[in-house]
Amino acid sequence: MRRTAIADLSWEDLLDIMEREAKKRNAPVYSLKCNLNPFQILVSAILSTRTRDEQTAKACEKLFKVVSTPEDLLKLSEDEIDRLIKEVGFHRVKAKNLKKLAEILVERYGSNVPSEFDELIKLPGVGRKVANIVLANAFGKPAIAVDTHVHRIANRMCLVKTEKPEETERELMKAVPKELWHKVNKPFVGFGQTVCKPIKPLCNDCPFKDFCPKRDV
Ligand code: SF4
Repeated sequence: MRRTAIADLSWEDLLDIMEREAKKRNAPVYSLKCNLNPFQILVSAILSTRTRDEQTAKACEKLFKVVSTPEDLLKLSEDEIDRLIKEVGFHRVKAKNLKKLAEILVERYGSNVPSEFDELIKLPGVGRKVANIVLANAFGKPAIAVDTHVHRIANRMCLVKTEKPEETERELMKAVPKELWHKVNKPFVGFGQTVCKPIKPLCNDCPFKDFCPKRDV
């Protein structure tokens, strides 16, 4: 069992503790419906970029009441999509991207979501983080989706020492056992939403407070 750099914790234990804390504190990431299909996972990951998790959850709830497939999305006009997702940041751009995404998935992929990184990354609105979220959450493939929460917390805890999320992804891939890669994102995000927040982290209430180096906090 591979250990983390802090308190001789295993990666399994670290992720379990983070998940437990996040759920106890009603982290928004755990309020999203769990039974999303790969297409909805892709759409929710696109909506989540540069947007607070609470706003993403609201937009997804509204959109997924009427959309569960690329065909459903294709039936909506760009303005209708925009109205449904207006809570998220850059909603006009995202509405345009989603419309284009639906067209591409229907025309080129038989309405399926591609399950290869190189294909995902070509889709409108999809960057490394979104592609890795889809690989990990929709297909259970070994991928570590590094967003701002993962990058910040991994550095505060000295699990990595990096400047950019892409470096964090590389370093975590060296440190975390491959079979756990797809499980990394959600507990980190939930923990970052509730305990190790960007501003004023709750160090006094944190289960890691006695051994976390709290780098740059
Ligand atoms: S002790 Fe503070 S910096 Fe370290 S993980 Fe907990 S909240 Fe984050």
